[in-house]
Amino acid sequence: AGDDSTGSSRGDGSTASHGFDLSADLAARERENLRRRLSPANRVAEYAQFAPPSGSALPVVDGEERLVLAANNYLGLTQDERVQDAAVAATEVVGTGAGASRLVTGDTLVHRDLEERIAETKATDRALAFSSGYAANIGTITALAPDVVFSDAYNHASIVDACRLSGADTVVYDHCDVADLAARMESRSGTVDDESWLVVTDSVFSMDGDVAPLADICDVAEQYGAWMMVDEAHATGLYEDGGGIVQREGLSDRVGIQMGTLSKALASQGGYVAGSDDLIEYLINHARSFVFSTGLAPPSAAAAAEALHVARTGDCRGRLWRNVEYLREELADMGYHVPGETQIIPVRVDDREAALALSDELYERGVVAPAIRPPTVPDGTSRIRVAPMATHSASDLAACLDAFRDAGREVDLL
Ligand code: PMP
Repeated sequence: AGDDSTGSSRGDGSTASHGFDLSADLAARERENLRRRLSPANRVAEYAQFAPPSGSALPVVDGEERLVLAANNYLGLTQDERVQDAAVAATEVVGTGAGASRLVTGDTLVHRDLEERIAETKATDRALAFSSGYAANIGTITALAPDVVFSDAYNHASIVDACRLSGADTVVYDHCDVADLAARMESRSGTVDDESWLVVTDSVFSMDGDVAPLADICDVAEQYGAWMMVDEAHATGLYEDGGGIVQREGLSDRVGIQMGTLSKALASQGGYVAGSDDLIEYLINHARSFVFSTGLAPPSAAAAAEALHVARTGDCRGRLWRNVEYLREELADMGYHVPGETQIIPVRVDDREAALALSDELYERGVVAPAIRPPTVPDGTSRIRVAPMATHSASDLAACLDAFRDAGREVDLL
């Protein structure tokens, strides 16, 4: 916002300056009940206790232990001693930061080890680590610069932004609707020969917890000669042998570009792309968010590599899925509408005020699960996005269900 080193204030308390009226925008959001805020300080989680993977120690929020039922730390591995030790060891041996882009002096054995493990899990030649999943999507799609991208209507914002930035013609198809995708490809085909086409979809959708019909999408993509890219942010580490839905469905050979984050089940920070040797070499040369950004911090790389190992070999995936099944069943029995099939359980309330009220009542009862409202989800589909973790104990889940029962009655939803 210009060259005003004091921020953007005119000195009279107003933030309207240089033609940017920030306060008017914020006030409008407030009126619409769409203003987002970081929580007040007392609502910030304080992980005062070490929580072993099998235990149920909970973060302290507002002076009390509370159940966090909305994190993407699905396997609970941010608190796992092995993962923490790996990050500490990398800090001590390699340092807290990479110090430069990987192409300058920031490349370390820790990065190479992580990338080998990801490639092995995803059954690809190679993998490449980025500093976030967001950066991985932006860097990859802009580097490929496709002529046309066919993108699911509910794809993550980082894919939407990447498509825009790439300059591609972006054709948005109806959510998970293979017939609509095929129709849009058909109506575009034959117009220009030799166009490069990319089909991109999340595998597990972050707000509905539903799963894209990947095999059918691959069929259509192959029929029209398009390349397939799948964002496995919410699936990586959770399925076959620690892989994602691409592995569960046996599609490693058909999805040319597998992308994901290290920040959810892998308990760290960063993103990755897995694919052929040529793809990775091309990205090393062209992905601007890789070339012109400092390498992933070594402790993050080491933590993700260890978390992947734990996810592949331990029993945490089994514990997560048992918790998911139990919560889904109990919430549905209680009368809540909980569509989807994955670890992301959208408790649909639809009305945004009701979703906020339910979230507040849950908080009063010791459960932290924020309301998800427009514009993150379409109007009329507000919800509490419940995400159990492998580390939630039976008594944690019982407490959570009690809270949902009482809070739902309090706000007249049950
Ligand atoms: N893709 C999807 C589907 C996501 O949900 C997210 C994170 N919310 C990202 C990409 C971005 O990943 P990161 O948080 O590592 O930037």
